[in-house]
Amino acid sequence: MAHRNTSGRSAPSASHISPPNDRAPSHGENSSLTLCVFCGSSPGTHPAYAEAARQLGKLIGAAGHRLVFGGGAVGLMGEVAREARDAGAEVIGILPAFLRHLEPPLKSAEELIITPDLQQRKARMLAMADAFIHLPGGLGTMDEYFEVITTAQLSVHRKPIVLIDVKQYFKPLKALIDHIVAQGFARPEVAALHTFVATPEEAMRAVSSLQVRA
Ligand code: AMP
Repeated sequence: MAHRNTSGRSAPSASHISPPNDRAPSHGENSSLTLCVFCGSSPGTHPAYAEAARQLGKLIGAAGHRLVFGGGAVGLMGEVAREARDAGAEVIGILPAFLRHLEPPLKSAEELIITPDLQQRKARMLAMADAFIHLPGGLGTMDEYFEVITTAQLSVHRKPIVLIDVKQYFKPLKALIDHIVAQGFARPEVAALHTFVATPEEAMRAVSSLQVRA
């Protein structure tokens, strides 16, 4: 695994130093996409969550896409990344230095980018992605969802945002967004910024078709 440390300090146990520039999003080059998956660092209470995560990883690898994720080997994050790697995807983890002990890095990832903090991790993930896929997760996953939807709302990017509504996990989030719109705190057009789907298969179809429109 290659390690890249964006803090300017020496890279830990680097076996390969990556080029200094982020890769540009792969939009327009071919059908291979860089997909950023946000999801829980916990497995959740129902096995359906981990099953969906593994299925998503498999589909990403089978389609020849690249995975960008939070870098940890734990929870749903680890499930997606291990399956994607086993299915042949290039897997890039992005992890803040202070989390390396709490969320141990996935050893099989092709590359691990170490950032100084959570904010820079999110910024790197946003910059590298062609599209975002959200699986169920905790408060960190919600923070990441609100980061991508609020930046889309401000037209900072036009990248597809897809949420996989496993076991209707996102029902309360949908209700919150509807409430925000109904009370006049967001325009109704925000509904067009994200897409809820039921399965990883539908998520893969959604990112491809939305990508064409972007
Ligand atoms: P969680 O959904 O809480 O299990 O966290 C999912 C991922 O989000 C983990 O890698 C967390 O480290 C990360 N995370 C937690 N809080 C934040 C935050 N405020 N900003 C960015 N990422 C976060």
